[in-house]
Amino acid sequence: MSIGRMTLTILGCNSAKPCHGRFQTSQILQLGNETLLLDCGEGAQIRMMDYKVKKSRISTVLISHMHGDHLYGLPGFIGSLSLDKRNAPLTIYGPVGIKTYLSAVFTASQAHLSIDLVIHEIAPVVAERIFLSKDYQITAFPVSHRVPTYGYLVEEINPTINVEKSAISRYSLTIPEIKKLKAGQDLVRGDQIIDHRQLTLGSKPLRSYAYCADTTVAGWNTSVIENTHTLYFETTYLDELRTKAHQRKHSTAREAGELAKQLGVNRLVIGHYSSQYRDIQPLLDEAKAYFENTVAGYDGLILEIE
Ligand SMILES: [Zn+2]
Ligand SMILES: [Zn+2]
Repeated sequence: MSIGRMTLTILGCNSAKPCHGRFQTSQILQLGNETLLLDCGEGAQIRMMDYKVKKSRISTVLISHMHGDHLYGLPGFIGSLSLDKRNAPLTIYGPVGIKTYLSAVFTASQAHLSIDLVIHEIAPVVAERIFLSKDYQITAFPVSHRVPTYGYLVEEINPTINVEKSAISRYSLTIPEIKKLKAGQDLVRGDQIIDHRQLTLGSKPLRSYAYCADTTVAGWNTSVIENTHTLYFETTYLDELRTKAHQRKHSTAREAGELAKQLGVNRLVIGHYSSQYRDIQPLLDEAKAYFENTVAGYDGLILEIE
């Protein structure tokens, strides 16, 4: 069974502060009926209303790191869900410290939340699967920034592969052979090898989305996001400011383009722009010079992951 549409909506794409009509980092990933919120910068709720995202449908929040531009919208968002008297719990994954942060905010403001929060503090040192359903899985992986920071890879799960009925009789397939074909192995008959794809139905290219929030391109294991369909990668600066970018543990548009090419992804989405850029076209042009299929993220961008 397929998960249905996989759609990315950018709620905010600026870095440290809101400006030039751009809010700080926040994204929505829609997976059929499931809605994930990736980071929750200030203004995320306003953008949800602007872009008609139903916040009541958000089941899970994935927080990359504890910097305010990715997090300051979260208490307000939880407060709204509580006021709306939502019954379903909200699941939050984030770095160690997120429980203390939320508890401090809600205690100091004497908030009485009517929503249950299920908070998972994570600290993966290598790529680690944190969620698995029948349709998709989420893997968290460490990236390289000034504080502990994690990227998230959301992947559609291989739909069940079925063996064609006609092939079963044609080749008098045994049960062990059928099991092997379903696992993607070829059929071996004497010295003849028959490609499993000729005998099976239902295998199709799988969709995936990798979210790399604030990070440098080096200093972490990028192999986990090789061949991802759509990669979001930060491009805080143009390459002429590479030294500054590295001092602040950020990346440049050129570096993101080069990395996307090296990883063999299908599409690159850029964002987390420094406030010094009113016009983001130069950042897009620079990334495109190294990786043609680059899209500049902007507040309100909606992309189908096909
Ligand atoms: Zn940031
Ligand atoms: Zn940061």
